[in-house]
Formats: sequence, structure tokens, C-alpha cells
Amino acid sequence: MRTFACVCGQTLFFENVACERCGREVGWCPSCRAIAALEPLGDGTYACANAGCGAVLVKCANYARENVCNRCLSAADAGRGLCDACRFNRTIPDLSIAGNRERWGELEAAKRRLLYTLDFLGLPYGSAADGFDPPLAFDFKADAIPVDGLWRWMGEGERVFTGHADGKITINIREADSVEREKLRVDLGEAHRTLIGHFRHEVGHYYWDLLVRGRHEAAFKHVFGDHENPPYGEALQRHYREGPPAGWKERFVSAYATMHPWEDWAETFSLYLDITSVLDTAVNMGLIGPVDFADLNGMVGRYRQLGLVLNELNREMGLIDVVPEVLHAPVVEKLGLVHALVRRRSG
Ligand SMILES: [Zn+2]
Ligand SMILES: [Zn+2]
Ligand SMILES: [Zn+2]
Ligand SMILES: [Zn+2]
Repeated sequence: MRTFACVCGQTLFFENVACERCGREVGWCPSCRAIAALEPLGDGTYACANAGCGAVLVKCANYARENVCNRCLSAADAGRGLCDACRFNRTIPDLSIAGNRERWGELEAAKRRLLYTLDFLGLPYGSAADGFDPPLAFDFKADAIPVDGLWRWMGEGERVFTGHADGKITINIREADSVEREKLRVDLGEAHRTLIGHFRHEVGHYYWDLLVRGRHEAAFKHVFGDHENPPYGEALQRHYREGPPAGWKERFVSAYATMHPWEDWAETFSLYLDITSVLDTAVNMGLIGPVDFADLNGMVGRYRQLGLVLNELNREMGLIDVVPEVLHAPVVEKLGLVHALVRRRSG
């Protein structure tokens, strides 16, 4: 991720909706692909204030009306209403429930970061309206409501599982409640449990469909194991009955990855997005020199070095490690297949 600049000189961040110094409204301009100051033109449209851009923009409806987005559309596309991140939503949270608008806002912020990294890598994705197969879509759903700080089951309808099916990414909005998420993180023995992590994992399943299914399944089996044997349901039951196999840390990025080759791929894909986005941000913030994003071994080496520093800084502040994983050779080999298939489809 980059940082951006207001016309007044103040640094702007990806999530900003206003400049902290001059108070100007800011938003994502799709023309210059930057967070920019927005100069109101008096008719509900804005001019991008970035030098050399000046695009005429309208705010995304989820920015103007709902306050959960900070993107704009070209005024010529105003009829579409939603920006190039919000248009993938199929289901949004019930806004009559207190706190859900804030949770939705956090989900959207994580989603925009995800899409930024996919764009950085040049990965393809599209909606049904784009004729994309499988089309990408997001369902933000709840099966429980918060009452006095505790989540109570709504009692009817189906349980909502965070997951992926045929391009549709479902996130249980309970995951946007930081107290609840931390509780699940500890209960499930996970090093990290974050909203952006959920998005990166689930989109990993989406890219299995796009990059591997019917194209590179033999190469996949060679590196990740046979996804058809045992079948997924059987593997899931065994995982919850027996837990991860002894010595899993030598071969897998997480305990969850040991369940089935599809989960191993999704966890590894998520790690690949972690590495890419952390290195991209570190370069842009001047922490490290240029990175060759075509060279996986170079990327892994830089990520290891940076991880040591970030972990030590976090320990200094009493926080959990930024980079909990130790990347053993089998994990790097799996990253190698992800990297090769991503680069084949990107551009
Ligand atoms: Zn400013
Ligand atoms: Zn612009
Ligand atoms: Zn939007
Ligand atoms: Zn999964």
C-alpha cells in the first residue's frame, strides 16, 4: 500500500475520508488511482484535486449515503451508483441492528485492501455483469445478534459459515466484532485471526477455481496432495476428530492448512498476499529498498528479514508477532506454485 498526499501537503492514508490538516473531503479517484482531495463543484460532483488529474467524480452511494466506503466513480458512471469495490456486494448487514453499520464499514475497508493487492498483482476478477466465470460476489451475513455485548443466536434460518462457493465469499459479520474475533482466535489456537486474513483466505479458494481447476490440477496434486482423495467432507471430520498431524509445522503454514489440500492452498495463497502486501508497503514507506516481485525466493528472504524486525518491535510494545509463521522449505515450495500460477494469469 502507498500513502497519498492532499493538495495542502498532508499525508493521506488509504482509509481516509477527510484531510486531518485542512479538513477537505478526500476519496479514491479511479482516474489517477489515488486517494485525493475532492473539490466540490456545487452540483453534487467533485473534481479530483490531484495535479494533472482533475477528473470529475461522484461519491460511491455507500460513501455518500452509508459512510462505509471512501471511493468515487467517474461522473460519467454515476448511474452505476456503487464503486468498483462495492459493486461486488450481494448481501449487506441488517443496518437496523446497532453496531452493524460500523462492522460493515470494517468489512468494506478490509475488502478494499484485498482488491488493492489483487490489482497490484494484476489478478483477474469480475462480476456477473462483466460476464466473469465464476463471478466474484460478497455476502456479509449474520446468524446471531449482539445483545448487551454478547452474541445471541437468532434461532431461525441457517448458520452462517465464513467460506467460499462458486465465487461467492461469505463473511459472518461476527468476525467484524473485535472482542468476538479475539475469543475465536484463542479458542481455535490461531496465531492470527483478522478480517483481512479471512478475505485473503477465501479469495484463495476463488483463485483455485480460476487458476487451478481443470488447468493445473496435476501440478497442484504434486505439491499440495490429492484434493480428490480423501474427499473434503471426510478430511474435515478427521481434522476435527484428530487435529493436525505431528510435525505439521515443518510442512504447513498453519494447523488449519493440514485439513485438506484445498485449505492448504487457501492458507498458502493468503500467506502469499500477506507477503506481497507487507513488502509493497515496506517499500513505499521507505523501510526497505526495491523488491523484485517476479523473484519469489527474493521476496521470501526479504519477508523473513522484515518479519524479524517487525516481531521484535511488536514484542517491545507487548503485542503479538506480526509474522508468526516460520517458512520451511515445503511451505516455500507451495508458495512457489502459487507464485507461478499468479504470474501466469496476471498482467
Ligand atoms: Zn489537506
Ligand atoms: Zn484523480
Ligand atoms: Zn463504494
Ligand atoms: Zn477455506
